Amino acid sequence: MTDRPTQVPAAVYRRRREVPVETRELPALGPGEVLVEVAYCGVCGSDLHLIDEGWGTPGDVLGHEWSGVVVESGAGVDLRPGHAVVGGPAPRCGECAACAAGRPSQCSNQPRMTGAFDGAFSTHVVRERSHVLPVPSGLDLRTAALVEPLAVALHAINRADVAPGDEVLVSGAGPIGALAAAVLVERGHRVVVVEPAASRQDLARAIGVDAVRAPADLPTFNMAEVDTIAEESFDVAVETSGKRQAMETAFQQLRRGGRLVLVGTGMEQPSFDPNRTIVLELTVRGSFVYDQDGFDVALELLAGGTLPCDVLIDRAEYGLDGVAEAVARLARGEHAGKVMIRPDLTAPGPTGPEEEPA
Ligand SMILES: [Zn+2]
Ligand SMILES: [Zn+2]
Repeated sequence: MTDRPTQVPAAVYRRRREVPVETRELPALGPGEVLVEVAYCGVCGSDLHLIDEGWGTPGDVLGHEWSGVVVESGAGVDLRPGHAVVGGPAPRCGECAACAAGRPSQCSNQPRMTGAFDGAFSTHVVRERSHVLPVPSGLDLRTAALVEPLAVALHAINRADVAPGDEVLVSGAGPIGALAAAVLVERGHRVVVVEPAASRQDLARAIGVDAVRAPADLPTFNMAEVDTIAEESFDVAVETSGKRQAMETAFQQLRRGGRLVLVGTGMEQPSFDPNRTIVLELTVRGSFVYDQDGFDVALELLAGGTLPCDVLIDRAEYGLDGVAEAVARLARGEHAGKVMIRPDLTAPGPTGPEEEPA
């Protein structure tokens, strides 16, 4: 293989807000492995916790929302150089009761990913063949990099048992909220988004949701108003922001039999009125990552071209040396859509709306 580099650049987490580009040795491929040149890798909300808040492990390469092209295949691999692929579901044991039941999100033996080539904030990744999925023909690599967050959003919708005709409140219009809202709009549901940031309110409108509300627009009820139902109530609320108050407010917008699904993790505990839960027969559920079918459905949906990916993906793109800046700007709310890292960009800083000629 003549195209194969021996050393590659990767953005390596060192400490809070410091993710320098370092050179890493590219290991030889073992049987059943593929070497992939990364085309795009999305910045995840979890990367914000790890990088902007400093929860990362020094030496790790982050980035799990990636697409790319196969450069080299190990023995026994069906993919050939040139094949477009995306990173598939995180590896699970495949043997525990949850895995056997088709619920790998609840695998009891989840391995921690470690090693020099973990993440895709790098020009190349080495993966087992079973951990990548071929991109359907006609689906571009930039859009394909949305597959992981879309699988997360689809799992949250599944966990909410959304039925035809259900009206849905989506709390937070970050990438997961925006993707969930887009899927629900595409499926014909009435969707209302609650979001404080103007740029993300605009994003929600561009997706075509029925209404956008600011948090202060939504009513709250005290314990004496146990069966008072909001004038604009919902069968389902999907909470993606991870903010305590947003969780509590979303809960209060449910009508009888309503379901609140929590998919945004947070650091503050919400409190839910037990009497309201009982009287209105409400359900609060968690939704963690995705189950095995999530990626296939997500790829199919992206390939179908019915989601507004041009607005779901931010126009800004950063090279590997822009990972820390991308995260900082995301944390400041300066990007509304999903931000992509493009390892082949060599110029420092972002390219995008501000830098493009008007
Ligand atoms: Zn993610
Ligand atoms: Zn398992």
